[in-house]
Amino acid sequence: MARLTIIRQDNPLIRKTSKVVDEFSPHLHEILENMHETLLHANGMGLAAVQVGVLYRMAIIFSEEYGPVEIINPIIKVAKNPRFDTEGCLSCPGISGRVRRPHLVTLEYQDRNGQKHNRTFHGMDAVCCCHEIDHMNGILFIDKMEK
Ligand SMILES: [Zn+2]
Repeated sequence: MARLTIIRQDNPLIRKTSKVVDEFSPHLHEILENMHETLLHANGMGLAAVQVGVLYRMAIIFSEEYGPVEIINPIIKVAKNPRFDTEGCLSCPGISGRVRRPHLVTLEYQDRNGQKHNRTFHGMDAVCCCHEIDHMNGILFIDKMEK
């Protein structure tokens, strides 16, 4: 395993739209392992692949309810109970602000073997899922932050 460099908001890659993962290969697993190590070391809640310069629609979330979850090709099926919370991002060090996000989301996603899952995330886990899915579309929390 290797620790990867987390890119910052001034890197143009962070604004790119990530591609759908269609090959669940050992190479993909290696990227995920490295993302785990990177997220652990950075002491974050979640990390999208684009943040380490990999333009695939995948993220790792350290969920309070489920532990570490790898979310690949996620689709939001249900989003409810929006609320404001204070958010930050490993790509935007030193910045935090209030963002309105759903506190209940049901996602359809794939795991590292391509197996499909449906799971409901609550509270800050739901917030984190939405934050990471935004990354896959080149959106940062500062775009949505209350001014
Ligand atoms: Zn982020």
